[in-house]
Amino acid sequence: MPLIFDQGSKDLQRWLDDDTWTQDLVRMLHPYEGELDCYAVKKEVGKVGNNSPDFIIPIDSSENKSNIANFFTKTPSKTEVKEEIKEEAIDKSEAALDNGLEENNAPMPDVIHPQHKRKHAEFLSEDDLPFRFVRSHIETRPLETIDVYTMKLQASDSAKAMRVVRGLRSKRIDLSYLKRIRRTTPSDDKSSGDSAEMEVLLCSCETPIEDIRVQLEQNDINAVPQRTKVSKWPALSQAQYDEWSTLWPLAWRVPAQRKVEMEKKEYEECEELMASLFKEDAVISALAYDPEQKQVIARAQDQRAEHPLKHAILELCSSVAALEVVKRLERPDAPSQYLMTNLWIFLTHEPCMMCTMALLHSRVTRVFYAKSMPKTGGMESNYGIHWRQELNHRFSVFAGWMESSATLLDEDTYV
Ligand SMILES: [Zn+2]
Repeated sequence: MPLIFDQGSKDLQRWLDDDTWTQDLVRMLHPYEGELDCYAVKKEVGKVGNNSPDFIIPIDSSENKSNIANFFTKTPSKTEVKEEIKEEAIDKSEAALDNGLEENNAPMPDVIHPQHKRKHAEFLSEDDLPFRFVRSHIETRPLETIDVYTMKLQASDSAKAMRVVRGLRSKRIDLSYLKRIRRTTPSDDKSSGDSAEMEVLLCSCETPIEDIRVQLEQNDINAVPQRTKVSKWPALSQAQYDEWSTLWPLAWRVPAQRKVEMEKKEYEECEELMASLFKEDAVISALAYDPEQKQVIARAQDQRAEHPLKHAILELCSSVAALEVVKRLERPDAPSQYLMTNLWIFLTHEPCMMCTMALLHSRVTRVFYAKSMPKTGGMESNYGIHWRQELNHRFSVFAGWMESSATLLDEDTYV
């Protein structure tokens, strides 16, 4: 039976401190009297690329299809449902067009993140790792701005200002990634407190100025709204945050899934695999590794001397496929999956578009490579095939590891 305590309450302390079962603890076991919001978490939650607030629906809400109460209530007519869906779709597409938040919520490449951080394990942060994480275009895009209305006033008027902001809350443009208030009096200025000056972000410039005047009048504020440039997009990286915040402060913290961290032990394991590529005679070399079994599944080299399509990656796919055939013959009842599900690939060079697509179709999880191919590569250099929303799988790419060990190839070579 779950118990609910107020944060920091005496009861909570007592529950945690007492070693023995006392009458005092028994007294705490009683039905909760407040109202609870209960949510059923759908099974789709947690899969890579599946993020949506729609996955969490209150159990007793009308949207919950499994709620038996809804079964007995009047079913809305088909036209009503259609209208509702249409409105929702318009709302969603407008929001996506206007603020790009929809795009920013799109699945990003899975990075090495401390999801199940083990105690006492040593982790290396992105700065300590000798390779770079290849980010998507929205994590590296330059500053773009939009105009919003702001106004200056005294800190003592902040409550009134927030009432104005609430009154002007625009449905169309979501500015939730921007802070609402910024201090204009320098923090070392002695005139802090109520006399300090601040600037409030009111709304996007799509809002008619007349609406703003009405709100200001209703709340007895005598201030002139000004147009101010702010970032059009929420920051997704520290670099974007640092640069874009200079225009107007952004509300942001690095989401855990975007942090690039690697356990030291895992790093050393990968380092050995990466180095093994260069011990072979071939110029272009690849290997597939199963991190769960800690086992190299296959190795392959470029064989174009034999056939123009025998790129290293395609050869690697063929080897893994051959092993898979054997496995399925031995265990016909075993569950089948995509060819390289959960595998990590190590490469001497950035693969071409064809090979990158082969890796995508095989559902690899991570790719490490040494040397970029600026003219022909399909990951960091061109198209960013590994992070594209319009494709049905995304994977992490780490580039530039042991770059000096890789042979310099002609820039027109397709790897
Ligand atoms: Zn290729």
